[in-house]
Amino acid sequence: MDGSWTLEPSEAERVEVCLPKPVEPTWTPERVAQLTVLWQEGVTTAEIGRRIGVSKNAVIGKVHRIGLVPRVIKELPAPHRNVFEFTGPACMWPIGHPTDADFHFCGERPIAGKPYCERHVALAYLKPKEKPEAA
Ligand SMILES: [Zn+2]
Repeated sequence: MDGSWTLEPSEAERVEVCLPKPVEPTWTPERVAQLTVLWQEGVTTAEIGRRIGVSKNAVIGKVHRIGLVPRVIKELPAPHRNVFEFTGPACMWPIGHPTDADFHFCGERPIAGKPYCERHVALAYLKPKEKPEAA
């Protein structure tokens, strides 16, 4: 090293800009603890990074490295909607049996205040305890 090659200040600056910035943040024990807590709270990686002051990728990398358990995204099964409580814009009269593959709801426009269309309201209230099979 005899300094045979030196860079002009302008060149040095350019080179420095081209250098990849250090991607590895300083994971202090505090940050790791914070990361762990936020992770377990279900905070998104981007949000964790924002709070700790590191990049989202750094958060993801660290999570893998320290072996945090992947969070289960809360994907609850579709609630078994009680058709009698449904007040949406479609007639919820069941067509067929719920176990059938082609089971579906009527879908006609319901009467205001009723879960069924005019035709099915008539059916629904005809025999409350012994409903006829849907056509
Ligand atoms: Zn209907």
